[in-house]
Amino acid sequence: MNPVSFEPKQMDHVQIGERRFVKLLSSEKIQARITELATAIREDYSDKDPLFIVVLNGAFMFAADLIRACELDCEIQFIRLASYEGTTSSGVVQQIIGMQIPVAGRHVIVVEDIVDTGRTMDAFTRDIQESHPASISVVTLLLKPETLEYPFESAYVGFEIPDAFVIGYGLDLDGRARHLEDIYQLEDEEQA
Ligand code: 5GP
Repeated sequence: MNPVSFEPKQMDHVQIGERRFVKLLSSEKIQARITELATAIREDYSDKDPLFIVVLNGAFMFAADLIRACELDCEIQFIRLASYEGTTSSGVVQQIIGMQIPVAGRHVIVVEDIVDTGRTMDAFTRDIQESHPASISVVTLLLKPETLEYPFESAYVGFEIPDAFVIGYGLDLDGRARHLEDIYQLEDEEQA
């Protein structure tokens, strides 16, 4: 049997339908930052048995890499809150898959892919507070400071990025592009 040859694609752009996306963050850069975030979380939570709450779908890849790198005794709960339709927010924060593990008295770390207006995290962290956790913090891979409209305080932010729609590394456009290991941003149509 012939060996399978595999050459990873070093793409600098991705085309989805009419839309063209250009590379914003390479997988090397993402992984290096995850190592730093994991080190900080391990130091802060080494004696706390944290409960990670992973926000599906976008955070699945980030959470898998981050939580492994943390090397902490922990529990993991997956939830699904809201979905974007196309490239704009539907404006609704819904809980589709809900919490099963009790939160009272737990040190909760919410794992999110991206904070845009901050509406999702503001609503969800307030929901969680009502169940009386011992503490709650948010780790987000990406934050768009220019579009933030709701209060957002987080000890752990991977990258602050410009106000542009991004895909890859878990983030999708209508279900596509989640599998990409790099992150791409929608190209400004005037520059295209
Ligand atoms: P927020 O409630 O902070 O406005 O939006 C948070 C959610 O919107 C994220 O969990 C993510 O699902 C989605 N979102 C916000 N910005 C982007 C983006 O640039 N790309 C993708 N794919 N999703 C985004």
